[in-house]
Amino acid sequence: MTKTNISFENFKIDRNRGWFCNQMKVLLANPRGFCAGVERAVETVERALRMFGAPVYVRHEIVHNQRVVQELRERGAVFVEDVEEIPRGAVTILSAHGVSRKVENDAKKCGLQLIDATCPLVTRVHVQGRRFAAKGYDVVLIGHRGHQEVEGTLGQIDGTVHVVATVREVENLVVADPSRVAYVLQTTLSVNDTREVIAALKARYPAIVGQDTRDICYATQNRQTAVLSMAEQIDVLVVVGAHNSSNSNRLREIGDAKGIPSYLVPAADDLQKGWFDNANTIGLTAGASAPEVVVEETIAQFRQWWSDLEVDSLSGPIEDVRFKLPAGIVVGSRTVNA
Ligand code: SF4
Repeated sequence: MTKTNISFENFKIDRNRGWFCNQMKVLLANPRGFCAGVERAVETVERALRMFGAPVYVRHEIVHNQRVVQELRERGAVFVEDVEEIPRGAVTILSAHGVSRKVENDAKKCGLQLIDATCPLVTRVHVQGRRFAAKGYDVVLIGHRGHQEVEGTLGQIDGTVHVVATVREVENLVVADPSRVAYVLQTTLSVNDTREVIAALKARYPAIVGQDTRDICYATQNRQTAVLSMAEQIDVLVVVGAHNSSNSNRLREIGDAKGIPSYLVPAADDLQKGWFDNANTIGLTAGASAPEVVVEETIAQFRQWWSDLEVDSLSGPIEDVRFKLPAGIVVGSRTVNA
């Protein structure tokens, strides 16, 4: 790991604490923060509030970030976990993570005016899973049981679906016909861990079909690559993101796997100065559902702690992915069709 040389003049005397250093370097990962699916989902709620007025109901957190959810709540969005809590006929948005067929059907039975903000890359996984199941394959969904996206994908595929997250779980799999097995992926997995799980599946079921790691979305892959590329230069990793954000947790785990003390912080207030006692260089990134303003607040907190703060923004791929807004949302003078 590269250590920044700190010269004697960068130290000053604090009457209470003795000698301390007020210099710190921050490497900002690129890309970081909002992905195209999150931007689309947030914009969907904002436009729906303008089109229909408050309240607009949202099934589950539109994206896994409390800051985003709270700001939308203040503008009139009402977040619920169960569509049966929503008044009949109300405008209701489904979150970026996707939902099961049961939730879709329950919403229709309740007469809700549905706008589906499921990320198109999640929908693509649903479609692939359904195709495999229709051909009679046992479908292995590589992902984390309990995560909203995985529960939605599970409920979109008719047929036998097994959820596995680890090589150990692959060893314990029991399928109907080992020659007819297919796999699909949660979109926000660790690329490296997933390669190992796929290798274990291929070793057990040589005829298995699936898409390697291509189902892991571009934003997840780019953010992981950005953290990996700065890992050799940093002493501590800070990931801005929510504790229930899958892709943010995967970023923190990359730091852990490299032996770098790594912290996931929903807000700048959650930072602790003691984490950086032995650090000269901090790596800073943000999960795909974390707004850039929290990164700015994190840097502002660092500036309060270290008056001589150097911030270097690293280069990375330019992301120009944009998704069409969901059906039912008005853009200009026209309504987006299904
Ligand atoms: Fe879509 Fe990827 Fe963003 Fe998830 S992380 S919302 S799959 S673009």
